[in-house]
Amino acid sequence: MNQADSEIITALLQHDGYVPAESEEKAGIILLNTCAVRENAVERIKHYFQHVKGLKKRQKGLILGVAGCIPQFYREQLFSSAPVVDFLVGTDAYRTIPFLIESARSGQRDASLEFNPAEMYDGIDPVRKGAISAYVPVMRGCNNMCAYCVVPFTRGRERSHAVSSILEEVRLLAASGYREITLIGQNVNSYCAPEDGLDFAGLLNVVSREAPQMRVRFTTSHPKDFSEALVHTIANHPNICNHIHLPVQSGSSRVLALMNRGHTIDEYREKIALIRSIIPGVSISTDIIAGFCGEREEDHHLTLELLSDLRFDSAYMFFYSTRPGTLASRTLEDDVAEEVKKRRLQEIIDVQNSISCELFQQSIGSVVEVLAESESRRSVQQLMGRTDTNRTVVFEREGYHPGDFLNVLITAATSATLIGRSVNGSLALG
Ligand code: SAH
Ligand code: SF4
Repeated sequence: MNQADSEIITALLQHDGYVPAESEEKAGIILLNTCAVRENAVERIKHYFQHVKGLKKRQKGLILGVAGCIPQFYREQLFSSAPVVDFLVGTDAYRTIPFLIESARSGQRDASLEFNPAEMYDGIDPVRKGAISAYVPVMRGCNNMCAYCVVPFTRGRERSHAVSSILEEVRLLAASGYREITLIGQNVNSYCAPEDGLDFAGLLNVVSREAPQMRVRFTTSHPKDFSEALVHTIANHPNICNHIHLPVQSGSSRVLALMNRGHTIDEYREKIALIRSIIPGVSISTDIIAGFCGEREEDHHLTLELLSDLRFDSAYMFFYSTRPGTLASRTLEDDVAEEVKKRRLQEIIDVQNSISCELFQQSIGSVVEVLAESESRRSVQQLMGRTDTNRTVVFEREGYHPGDFLNVLITAATSATLIGRSVNGSLALG
């Protein structure tokens, strides 16, 4: 979501005549787009402020703006704690950035932090980072109140884009040669069309028909809103990727209740069973939080057990950090000691990594369809792409280019990457 917002901000700035600088040292304005989800994001920003302090000594007139969730949350307090900051802009106020820059030039420190539920950034053509894969925001904000989470306080109430504007964007992307779109939202599967109440399964259906030559992905889904109709929609459309990111957070129903997630672990397991019975070969990834308030050793063991049973393809794993203002920070005690959180997290990572490694090893010898996305980091002779199950594949270039679909025979694997070579030519999707 932050990347999609940065693409909107870039479009707004370019419209006003600003151009990207070649480097920080050549920049007149630095705009930091921020995340407040975990404490370490906040810590990293504080370090960056120190760095900009150094730059400001050398670059006269350099302006630092801070955008997104951190200013939305900490508000003007940031001005006093970080004198290096010249302006603040919240998640619904990016259109004001050119004005904030102007007033910073005249020496004023302004903040534009109003929530505006009507702001969907319609009519702005995002300046995208790549030319192959594009994020398409379909909703903004979140109405869930997961006890640990700051997002409802930094991104406001949930609201969905009109189907007509989403389809228009998809058509434009297809015509510009994009090969993959990812529909994004904090809680993407609670999408509800403002025109007629069309749900996310319905939206996915029309989007995939609109762009049969493109891969369609979506993230992030909430388990409680993952309907059977949505599972069938994914199964019925060859261009909708067989990958579902479905954060579970904990293997214990007791902890899930404390987290206010709105479902039990049995319900989650039933959903996974349903998905796997209807979409053979689907890959499922998840998010886990270790050491949430009140988590006991037996709850932690239930999480390890869940990972072993469900064998996720991959997981984002974090230890819990209190976020001020959240339900948990107001009503629950952060009672798991830091070293216990870290130990539990490491155990979770070890179990998951060995599962990912086994699953990746099992695919050696198989042929997978890959969308080539870029040169590999290691060598210009190799390309990097992804399978429709969202596994990263590195393969010999052999005349292929980013944007090509091709079949790759997997010859080796690490715990995060498949390695292979192309077999029998390029493919068309659908
Ligand atoms: N809307 C998505 C993602 C929210 S933030 C969802 O509902 O899944 C991404 C992930 O960060 C969450 O899934 C959660 O695992 C993690 N996270 C959020 N708040 C956290 C906190 N206070 N401490 C640690 N991890 C957190
Ligand atoms: Fe946060 Fe929960 Fe909303 Fe995800 S669904 S953004 S975790 S409140």
